Amino acid sequence: MRKKLVAGNWKMHGGLQANAALLDQIADGLPGVACDVLVCVPFPYLSQVAERLVDSRVALGAQNVSEHAAGAFTGEVSAFMLAELGCSFVIVGHSERRALYGESDLVVAHKCQAVLAAGMQPVLCVGETLAEREAGETLAVVARQLHVVIDCVGVESFARMVVAYEPVWAIGTGLTASPAQAEAVHAAIRLQFAGLDSVVAEGLRILYGGSVKPQNALELFAQSNIDGGLIGGAALVADDFLAICRAAN
Ligand code: PEP
Repeated sequence: MRKKLVAGNWKMHGGLQANAALLDQIADGLPGVACDVLVCVPFPYLSQVAERLVDSRVALGAQNVSEHAAGAFTGEVSAFMLAELGCSFVIVGHSERRALYGESDLVVAHKCQAVLAAGMQPVLCVGETLAEREAGETLAVVARQLHVVIDCVGVESFARMVVAYEPVWAIGTGLTASPAQAEAVHAAIRLQFAGLDSVVAEGLRILYGGSVKPQNALELFAQSNIDGGLIGGAALVADDFLAICRAAN
């Protein structure tokens, strides 16, 4: 039985005061939450949030990482640095990174490798654009994105990874994949892994992301291959985030 995980992606939002208030509100609501909870915050706030999460069951994650270990890469942040600051997860290959910063499947794979080498868990994002969905390419695109990473890190590494299926057309748009649409892709992802390693496939947590709200979370999380969510906008509103977490109970 896979324990559900709800991960908040704060994206480039926050401020010292706003973060503190949000974390206090989340902490107040945690007694009613049974699933694993993760917040992925902007780099400058990792220390602040790590400090506030001491003795809490909320895990800390980053939203990006360099594929390089160290060196002349001005502006980049290594996996080692994130681990040292208390991160246990790192979002890798978010569609905004792929689309806006040109991250290829191979770069994403190398980033996963760096995160694993530092002892953290990548939350590997995959998903198709609207044009790819309309062209009937959804499953092929997702399979390719996964295949490149599997080739690089080995299927066994997925025992220490999380996959997030995030259809690009559903992120921040208010459009959500229907539970049936999402479940079809999640089931295909699990099948892809089952062909390589049945134990890894059975244990792999596959999150759904894309305009998850308190109103749609319950039905999405009820699908047999949906093991929680990666939450953007609703992760910034404590009541909404907590309601989504409770939907994963
Ligand atoms: C995300 O940022 O990964 C995301 C799914 O955003 P939203 O929930 O706002 O669509």
